[in-house]
Amino acid sequence: NHLAHAISSASDGRGEDLFLEHGVTGAQVSYGAFWQAAERMAAVLVGAGVAPGDRVAVQAAKSVAMLELYVGCVLAGGVLLPLNPAYTAGEVAYFLNDAAPRVFVLAPEREDELGPVAAAAGVARLFTLAGDETGTLVTAQAGVDAGFQPVRRGPEDLAAILYTSGTTGRSKGAMLTHRALASNSATLCDIWRFSHEDVLIHALPIFHTHGLFVATNVAMMAGASCLFLPGFDADAILRLMPRATALMGVPTFYTRLLAAPGLAGASAGMRLFISGSAPLLAETHERWREVTGHAILERYGMTETNMNTSNPYDGARRPGTVGFPLPGVELRITDPETGVEVARGEIGVIEVRGPNVFYGYWNMPDKTREELRDDGWFITGDLGTVDADGYVTIVGRSKDLVISGGFNVYPKEVEAVIDALDGVVESAVIGAPHPDFGEGVVAVVVAEPGAGLTPDGIRAAIAPHLARFKQPGRVILADALPRNTMGKVQKAALRAAHAGVFG
Ligand code: ATP
Ligand code: MG
Repeated sequence: NHLAHAISSASDGRGEDLFLEHGVTGAQVSYGAFWQAAERMAAVLVGAGVAPGDRVAVQAAKSVAMLELYVGCVLAGGVLLPLNPAYTAGEVAYFLNDAAPRVFVLAPEREDELGPVAAAAGVARLFTLAGDETGTLVTAQAGVDAGFQPVRRGPEDLAAILYTSGTTGRSKGAMLTHRALASNSATLCDIWRFSHEDVLIHALPIFHTHGLFVATNVAMMAGASCLFLPGFDADAILRLMPRATALMGVPTFYTRLLAAPGLAGASAGMRLFISGSAPLLAETHERWREVTGHAILERYGMTETNMNTSNPYDGARRPGTVGFPLPGVELRITDPETGVEVARGEIGVIEVRGPNVFYGYWNMPDKTREELRDDGWFITGDLGTVDADGYVTIVGRSKDLVISGGFNVYPKEVEAVIDALDGVVESAVIGAPHPDFGEGVVAVVVAEPGAGLTPDGIRAAIAPHLARFKQPGRVILADALPRNTMGKVQKAALRAAHAGVFG
């Protein structure tokens, strides 16, 4: 079993070593105990009829048992399908009908609501699982033996279907192979220098690639231990930090930790802070370095590919960039119209190729053909540039590109100018239908309370720094930007909210 072998190799013979300590309850789980628990989960799944290649859906609060379910599913030859607990019954119905899982593990409090949805989708077996490690899944697990013989799975077999975050449209199910997951974790473990001496603060959700495959797989592959938190909690993270060596977070983790007292002292013994899933403002990077002395290591990835680029462990971690392509990952920038590679330094669509790239979108052959070229290059839909030193910078998503009067306006360029103004917390630039220009530029700006900023004042202040066609025709002040759990700004929601500003 390709992936199980890869993630267990560092802990082989280290069964007594600590894998997880629960940051709230203090419960400790050794590697040996975790692996046996995962074997029991595999036995439960096979008992429920899961055959190799069958999907196992889970929509539950973050728990240690959910990680056991993940590894158990891999051992059983199943395909894990984790779902965001925030999804409504209607959304769950879509995912269950689309992926047709054999088993669905759900939160006990939603059994009445989602049971009928699962039945209608033909799910054979339901289990419950709560964030406090109870539920019918855990009861069933206690009733079977460990020592499960892993089902044979090769590198090309699927280990998971992970739905994308749905930032630009309907979520797509990315089919991820054993090889893609195993190879990417091995690379990350190596370039970020993870070892069994590391203690990782694990506060990310585990229905998303960042917390599930980056954080968990890297820790397991290194034989490291995790301080496991059910979610982001600045006080808990600062309390645990003196015992930790590494933190993986989304940008909002870092901005919130900067606002909490005690960061400088708590971070003194840390080795590594990693950020990804959404752009980290250069300003956050710089403030973090002033307060803690550490340069946050920013990397870039996506559901379909796991990680593609990373700033270096040794060498300059450049604020506002996502670093270099990972070893084994090819990256190129192409013209969105022609698909031809652009000159160094020019903006285009980021394409990647490598063992990390997904197999295709579940049940979406047309979408797969559009985005995954025959020769293996995946068209990410992100726009970026590569500078003379090889650092990759993301300037936005091709779907967020604003075309105003025939000119391309890259939102990030305009956002950077606005964000640099005194009193601005953050901004989001979008396009809105415009009677003359096709699209007009709109900036939604969050100001510090009491900063006294006005839309006209902001427009006047940025005018000297941007060509006329890039200047926002409308500036709208807002209390906050709409974000999802992963800290991603929901530009589609902003576009919908401000579609009428140019009349
Ligand atoms: P969907 O594909 O459904 O629209 P999504 O792309 O947001 O949603 P994910 O796979 O969770 O779903 O996110 C991947 C995206 O996150 C990348 O394509 C990129 O746009 C963004 N991203 C990840 N890391 C970074 C980073 N360090 N800087 C900027 N953007 C990032
Ligand atoms: Mg995407």
